[in-house]
Amino acid sequence: MAAAWDLSGNPSSVHAEGRASRKMVEDARVAVAAALGADARHVIFTSGATEANSLALTPRLQRNSGLPVNRLIVATIEHASVLAGGRFRRDAIETLDVTKSGVADLDRLRDMVAASPPALVSVMSANNETGALQPVTEIADIVHRAGGLLHVDAVQSFGKTSFDIKEVQADLISVSAHKIGGPKGTGALVLTGAVSGLEASIRGGGQELGRRAGTENVPGIAGFGAAAKAATTSLDDARNRMENLRIRLETGLRQTPGLFVFCENVPRLPNTTLFAVPGMKAETVVIGFDLEGIAVSSGSACSSGKVQPSHVLQAMGAGPGLAKGGVRLSLGCSTTEADIDRCLEAWRKLASALLKENDETQLERF
Ligand code: PLP
Repeated sequence: MAAAWDLSGNPSSVHAEGRASRKMVEDARVAVAAALGADARHVIFTSGATEANSLALTPRLQRNSGLPVNRLIVATIEHASVLAGGRFRRDAIETLDVTKSGVADLDRLRDMVAASPPALVSVMSANNETGALQPVTEIADIVHRAGGLLHVDAVQSFGKTSFDIKEVQADLISVSAHKIGGPKGTGALVLTGAVSGLEASIRGGGQELGRRAGTENVPGIAGFGAAAKAATTSLDDARNRMENLRIRLETGLRQTPGLFVFCENVPRLPNTTLFAVPGMKAETVVIGFDLEGIAVSSGSACSSGKVQPSHVLQAMGAGPGLAKGGVRLSLGCSTTEADIDRCLEAWRKLASALLKENDETQLERF
């Protein structure tokens, strides 16, 4: 990124300075494609996964020149940028339920895709709150048999579990640089050669083969390429290390009476734990951890300073109290055993204070 900041040329210019910037962009494109098993020609750089999702959700997309899709099916646990439906009309968007374990309901999906016209289905590879992995390969098979297309928001699993666009058989995938240690504000939509009919959401110059106009964010893209290389070089080691640390963390957390971990019985990301203690509000726990110098999130979305119940936990059947109680701890590649032990120490202090305030008669169970 530092090298890219020193380049003054516009990547679309033909002079040497421009060509140097172009090389940075194209090298990053090759790195991002390689990390996802894709062809570099099918990587479209965007300002992040929100834009990639909104670009992907295009009516009239086609797979192998099949019928154009005219309906959108999104899982209820998707990120807001998918739930918004891109360029589909509101009345063309249908929602796919998840089970109590936070996994897409495949029987329901089979029924939904059987109707016509063919659908574009958008399901995330892993949920950003619970970490629950979705059976995307099975979903691709169901969707393709019915003549539809599959978009996968792979933001959370990218760099944490292996994800190859050809193995998964996804048609379009969205990724974001800042989830793999890259810069914020850069991402990509990645396609397979089978997809046609993608319409630019930002029109103007011919950048990104006319599918996303605007001068490329060269330092951001260069950083994304470097992060993609780093994240996939030692993926297995990083995944095993994070998983062991997560087990250590959850073993310690479970010593608190009443505490439970969401989606603990389904395959999950190696770095994500979402827990709740009935009666405890997530915002109180987040502030308590923050005072101890530990950054955690509430599982629920936060808007205008007010913690809203999590739409993900509600979709899984949690009542209103628990849907405001999910606390998410995320580990990174640099997290150590000492960090986990410090976090557990802070939690024990916090929990013993908060449990005293719990009114046992008012507790909601999941
Ligand atoms: N999709 C998922 C699953 C996410 O977790 C996020 C961000 O947190 C996004 C999409 C949006 O990504 P970006 O912040 O790059 O717009």
